[in-house]
Amino acid sequence: MAQRETVTNINSGSEVAGHGFDFDLFVIGGGSGGVRASRMSASYGAKVALVELPYDPVSSETRGGLGGTCVLRGCVPKKILVYGSAFSHEFQDAKGFGWEINGEIKFNWEKLIANKTKEIERLNGVYKRMLLGAGVTLLEGFGRIVDEHTVEVKESDGQVKTFTTNHILVATGSMAVRLNIPGKELAITSDEGLSLKKFPSKVVIIGGGYIAVEFAGIYSGMGAEVHLIYRKEYPLTGFDIEARKIVARNLEARGVIIHPETNIVKIEEHYLGLKATSDKKEEFHVDQVMFATGRKPKTSNINLEGVGVELDKAGAIKVNAYSQSNVPSIWAVGDVTNRINLTPVALMEGTCFAKTVFLKEPTKPDHTNVAHAVFCQPPLSSVGLTEEEASARENADSLRVYTSTFNPMKNTVSGRQEKTFMKLVVENSSDKVVGALMVGPDAPEIIQGLAIALKCGATKAQFDATVGIHPTAAEEFVTMRSLTRHVYPGGAVEDGQ
Ligand code: NDP
Repeated sequence: MAQRETVTNINSGSEVAGHGFDFDLFVIGGGSGGVRASRMSASYGAKVALVELPYDPVSSETRGGLGGTCVLRGCVPKKILVYGSAFSHEFQDAKGFGWEINGEIKFNWEKLIANKTKEIERLNGVYKRMLLGAGVTLLEGFGRIVDEHTVEVKESDGQVKTFTTNHILVATGSMAVRLNIPGKELAITSDEGLSLKKFPSKVVIIGGGYIAVEFAGIYSGMGAEVHLIYRKEYPLTGFDIEARKIVARNLEARGVIIHPETNIVKIEEHYLGLKATSDKKEEFHVDQVMFATGRKPKTSNINLEGVGVELDKAGAIKVNAYSQSNVPSIWAVGDVTNRINLTPVALMEGTCFAKTVFLKEPTKPDHTNVAHAVFCQPPLSSVGLTEEEASARENADSLRVYTSTFNPMKNTVSGRQEKTFMKLVVENSSDKVVGALMVGPDAPEIIQGLAIALKCGATKAQFDATVGIHPTAAEEFVTMRSLTRHVYPGGAVEDGQ
């Protein structure tokens, strides 16, 4: 459906608080999008309040915390655990470089989780200080919309307070989905997976998306037997097909047991832990079963439908290009709108909201060329269009595709059998690079730089004219001279050589 392009009545109430409202802006949700929008709006002179649930690393209807999913139970703790698990591969690789590791190397999960929790609690405090420093009024409890200019907050002790506001911003994020199978309540999600008291020595992970492949790498790197069970032929639906195949191969090579085209149909308690049964009648006796089967927007219980806010089929708030809902005083940013569910995107949407509403500069978030990364090991990162997306565009031009598969220099000595893969997708007539992708060490660090080039509309000729840094993997992106294939509109393919 086409997005509505106009901002309806930015000042649907009075201009500033004090003209009848308690606040100019009331934000429900203190994750990345809500916090950014609050701070920016306050910096433009708005009187802002923000409500968030009490802190807990594991979220629920009554628990949350400033920082939201990314800081408390997503990107940040996940990356800490990825760092933790990657040491095992480093120890293996170190031998080829002359390190003799003879004694027992032990991994202490409890210590890592304690350090991770300390760090996220520090960040939770930083967020609180940042908001208070910006002059935002912080409220702890459950926020619910009463009408288009009123929000009520139910505090932990049951007290309910009501506030009036010119604008309401919903930034409540999303929550993990459990499949509706018998025994689903016995399984965990990524929330619990980042805070388990005891390290699971055998795990089933259901799903083949971002969270599934990242956690498979984490637990397996730390020594667990991991069964990754997904319904498609390859993990990471929606990503470049060549990259998906490579990720599957790398997961296996690093010890994850993959089960493509398989579904778990039942989970039961078992005297040794849990038993998960697949549609192929396999039985997995494990300590933990994790659902990594997607997330859904948190839009229930806040009375959105009651005030007439339209939701889409997935339960996400429908917004126009300025993040405004069909009720002019109610806006939404981040995962609750289910556009691109990534922290930096929520930050951008929060910034654009504040500029539009309080700086009076209507600003649309730009969802094109958003780089992203999957922190499987080694990681996958990409920006722009996949080959499939580029050739499926309306009036698509033919494409030139350049690929490179090589043995990273470190592996020549470590002996690790794992290739790095890179791809550039180039629009033939304009010579513009419309997509870049990498699977290999440091891919996200490299692709972030290329994202600027794509945002600037760089051409393949400009990539070729760039002098590389030697010896790096990144230099391969500016030395990809031989065409791998030509892809014509309609999908016909011709080899390049
Ligand atoms: P994803 O959408 O990435 O993956 C969901 C997985 O669950 C897919 O493999 C999907 O299969 C599978 N699935 C869904 N329904 C069923 C079903 N009924 N039966 C079997 N399998 C099913 O979601 P995640 O939970 O991994 O992550 C949620 C979002 O969070 C991501 O999309 C991303 O936006 C964000 N995120 C970003 C990260 C990052 O930036 N590094 C890290 C983690 C999360 P199929 O492919 O067949 O549809």
